[in-house]
Amino acid sequence: MRFNIIMAKTRSERTSKKRAYTSPGGDSRIEYHKRKNAKILCGNCKEELMGVPRRMKKKSKTQKAPNRPYAGNFCSSCSRKLIKEKILNEYGVDDKK
Ligand SMILES: [Zn+2]
Repeated sequence: MRFNIIMAKTRSERTSKKRAYTSPGGDSRIEYHKRKNAKILCGNCKEELMGVPRRMKKKSKTQKAPNRPYAGNFCSSCSRKLIKEKILNEYGVDDKK
């Protein structure tokens, strides 16, 4: 009789992508690749944000997002529109005059 021993998989083995390959010695092995994080999208137009990395670990504050309001949440054009709207609402500028 032949028994297969089923070992519990570690967390990285369960979550990472697998790829089978043959080593130079001739035996087949499995390679584990880490998955990339999801793309960070704009909250309004759902376009990919520029200047925001997928992996935040081991990065300084200035490398994580641009230095302006709504950075990391809205793209530059959407945040520009938002800021303009806020100013118009705050100071009550009308086009009727
Ligand atoms: Zn946008």
